[in-house]
Amino acid sequence: MVKKVFLAMVTILVSVLMLGSVNSQASSKVNNYIASHNISHNQVSSKIWGGFPHYKYRHGKNKPEGVVVHETGNSHSTIFGEIAYMKKNYRNAFVHTFVDDDHIINIASTKYLCWGVGYPGNARFVQFEQVEMHSKKSFAGEVENAAYYTAYILHKYHLKPNDAVYDGHGTVWSHGAVAHYLGGSDHTDPKGYYANRGKKYFHQSYTMAQFYQLVLTNYHNL
Ligand SMILES: [Zn+2]
Repeated sequence: MVKKVFLAMVTILVSVLMLGSVNSQASSKVNNYIASHNISHNQVSSKIWGGFPHYKYRHGKNKPEGVVVHETGNSHSTIFGEIAYMKKNYRNAFVHTFVDDDHIINIASTKYLCWGVGYPGNARFVQFEQVEMHSKKSFAGEVENAAYYTAYILHKYHLKPNDAVYDGHGTVWSHGAVAHYLGGSDHTDPKGYYANRGKKYFHQSYTMAQFYQLVLTNYHNL
């Protein structure tokens, strides 16, 4: 009797856990919201600044191997403030592009490397920053822009979509995954920002695995 109850409880527990994991992996509330509200991406606007240095990727000019997704970690900034700051401080770090809920602004030519993740990732990847958003709709809009831009770069450079975040191999990276698998920094973004905004606005952590699914959706719609 005790054993039967125990087995029943284990069965229920396993079912709940499986449902939970299916829910967080297969069905993203953020991605579903983007689809059901017809949230569409902005176009990439080119505002290349001439002051950034021009260094080739390890395989040469115009030969990036993937995309790195960042998040600024600054809760009080705007996309224009971030871009102005980066132009002033590019000697320390700069990325190719900034994204928010209403803009995709390319400021440094993706023909050349940028300085966002240190060695060796800088010589391999196109990199972009997401500015922090403060509402459900703006977070969803930003994530859609980020996924579109990732797909756009993959397509532009004839790179196959491949999630690198869980195994360290592929074309779609987070800064955290670059740091973990390749080194160069101890940053973890955008994992914490995604989890925070997902929980806050959608009652479910948003994950890089879910973001990768949104990249695929955008890639197939190109
Ligand atoms: Zn970063």
